[in-house]
Amino acid sequence: MNDNLHERAQQLMAESVVEGLRPAEETWLREHLRECPSCAQEAATTQNVLHALRSVPVNIPRDLAARTQLRVRLRAQEASKIANGSFWLWAVTAASWVVGVFSAPLVWRGFAWLGANFGLPKLALEMGFVLWWTVPALVAVGAVLHQRALSAGTKGI
Ligand SMILES: [Zn+2]
Repeated sequence: MNDNLHERAQQLMAESVVEGLRPAEETWLREHLRECPSCAQEAATTQNVLHALRSVPVNIPRDLAARTQLRVRLRAQEASKIANGSFWLWAVTAASWVVGVFSAPLVWRGFAWLGANFGLPKLALEMGFVLWWTVPALVAVGAVLHQRALSAGTKGI
């Protein structure tokens, strides 16, 4: 067997590690390794070194990654628990305010009509108008807070 063949075998071994081999090259290398003890020995050594390299440094980051994932997941659960409560609080409050703002002109006209037809004092109309506007929001906030108190109670917190 000449040196060129061993050289080729070694080059193919290096390539197989880095980028893989074409089927013909792989077959040739496998046959050479079967016939050539020194190249087979070198291939085995390379495999052992690669195996050692792969098993040692990968294990540490894998554990680290798992722990980090767990921590991130716990943090995300915590955050979403808080966010869920305040999201609904804000959503309901905002919705009731938006409804209040858009219905305000109609409501004001309604109160003006009541005042004109029943001779109610202006202060009572204004108070009524303000209450109409703020009460739904306050009720909504109260409902959400009540809901949260109930769910906290059933969880035994
Ligand atoms: Zn060889």
